Amino acid sequence: MAKTYTLPPLPYAYNALEPHISEQIMKLHHDKHHQAYVNGANAALDKLEKARAGAMQVDVRATLRDLSFNIDGHKLHSIFWPNMAPAGKGGGSPGGKVADRIAADFGAFDKFKAQFSDAAKTVEGSGWALLCYDKEIDSLVLTQVEKQNFMELAELPILLGLDVWEHAYYLQYWNDRGKYVDAWWNVVNWSDVDSRLSRLG
Ligand code: MN
Repeated sequence: MAKTYTLPPLPYAYNALEPHISEQIMKLHHDKHHQAYVNGANAALDKLEKARAGAMQVDVRATLRDLSFNIDGHKLHSIFWPNMAPAGKGGGSPGGKVADRIAADFGAFDKFKAQFSDAAKTVEGSGWALLCYDKEIDSLVLTQVEKQNFMELAELPILLGLDVWEHAYYLQYWNDRGKYVDAWWNVVNWSDVDSRLSRLG
């Protein structure tokens, strides 16, 4: 049996991010969408294992593409949930090491926030805005990901991610992605972002 991925529990209640992100969205997003990525990754791994055992004919290219899509979806959502904190505990501006890095690498928090929001609002179709750290230039960098296949960023640890797939906001904000992005800042868990940066050493 191939090893399997599992769905991590949400680190707070489904309704904890209200009024900024509704309970209904969180339930579907975590229990259905994220679970589907976990299932998809496990199914692809299983297919590859069966192919190696000669028990199944597999289109390796298509299956690896499927595997990448689902693993990336799983990993991104596993960062996205703890990147947020219940309304009242999240939001505001960061402290700690990440505050210093943002000021040094982006000029000021407000300038970072504006550019990150712009990245999120302008993703064509489904995707993500991500704050990463690149050790090579010792700097935080903003990236934008279409859909969720981003194997080329494998060396850039993600500190903060914002999901702008329609499933992340449509039931509450309809087509107004900008309003969702603006509201999302109220639930950013800066201490989680800071500890991700600190763990990089
Ligand atoms: Mn999502």
